[in-house]
Amino acid sequence: MKVLMIGNLYKNGLSLFFKIVFKLINFDNFFKNHGLLTIKSYCKKHTTAFMKIFDYMPWFFEFKKNYDIIAISMVILHNDHNRNIKIFQKIRKRSPNSLIILGGMYAEVMKEKFIDYVDAICLGEGEIPFKELLEATDKKAYLEQTPYWYTKNKTNFSSYIMKDLDLLEPVEFTGKKVVLTITKNCPEKCIYCKFDNSPPYREKSIEKVKEDIKYYISKGAKGFFFIDDSPFKNEKLWCETLDFITENKATAYVLHNNFIYITENILNSYAGCNKSKSAIALNIDCIPTEEFFNKTGKPGTFEIFKEKIRLIQRYKLKVQTIFIYGFPWEENIDYSPLINDFVKEYNIDSYNLAELELYYGTQLYNEAKKQNLIDDEQLIAVSPWTKIKYKKLVINKETKRLYKDEYIANKIL
Ligand code: SF4
Repeated sequence: MKVLMIGNLYKNGLSLFFKIVFKLINFDNFFKNHGLLTIKSYCKKHTTAFMKIFDYMPWFFEFKKNYDIIAISMVILHNDHNRNIKIFQKIRKRSPNSLIILGGMYAEVMKEKFIDYVDAICLGEGEIPFKELLEATDKKAYLEQTPYWYTKNKTNFSSYIMKDLDLLEPVEFTGKKVVLTITKNCPEKCIYCKFDNSPPYREKSIEKVKEDIKYYISKGAKGFFFIDDSPFKNEKLWCETLDFITENKATAYVLHNNFIYITENILNSYAGCNKSKSAIALNIDCIPTEEFFNKTGKPGTFEIFKEKIRLIQRYKLKVQTIFIYGFPWEENIDYSPLINDFVKEYNIDSYNLAELELYYGTQLYNEAKKQNLIDDEQLIAVSPWTKIKYKKLVINKETKRLYKDEYIANKIL
């Protein structure tokens, strides 16, 4: 049984230069689709199938190898629906005997639109459905009988949610850094969040987390990256995890966090195991106003947000924020002066300005559609109601480097 797993049909944000560099320094697994890595490690333990993940490498050269199953992960919403369909058709043409299946948030949201071009779409989390599919002798019959695989005309279906995260196996990695996930999903309900339809928040046990850390360290890992959607929600779990990493003389890097959960205990533990003291990020997508928190359902208030910034700075950790603009109620508001003052007053180390993208299926998307602000064909609606046009930029005060749109940066700052 041979399985080709495709992490991203096209466009993954990494330039060719970085792809080659990461390959050369054995860091390429870090950028592989983590969902597929987890499914692969789970299925490897339970089946003998040969599985190969292609993420940013050209997967289309693989077709001559006659894979039994071609599994495509669609976590990211792409606006170009027709392009997706064309790629599915090409895959079918070049690999007529393969079973073509999809999984991931985007595939689930778009199931009715995609099902004409593929054999089945996995609903919910893929580890167990995928393992069962590999084990099934009659795969087509299995897909028809099981509720968490969507097939054409199926009316009785539901999403698979893995209740016990301790069943997950450590993932493959190369080099000295690895992604460690200890929770899944987010318990909050921001009205614009693309994870709006995702399964509920869950956690691994601390025993399992320690076992995984020990395993990774025994295989040469020295650094742990976290890509959890809602890190620090469980203070005890996170403090024990970070302290265990420190005890084992490794480093932790938290790439994203939900500022509301940051506490002194977390910062103590985090500062202890982060030698560079730079990785923690107050990555909150916001416009610095009370109104933002009230209207979007983002946890916390503007006051708490400011308190947490000061707290992080007391621990000499850097603060990065994402200012997201373009909400429907901002039609004619220019937040540049506000952001400008805020960045100066709170001494923000780096920040990113990003235009709101409304994802098909989210609460805010549906609301905007009701108000005729977006048309039916848009899968990602980019604030057509906002008259003010900012530009994306990232400013790092330490390096003094302006990555993009320097003239706008100068205008704002
Ligand atoms: S806190 Fe972040 S991940 Fe959670 S629902 Fe809100 S935007 Fe989504």
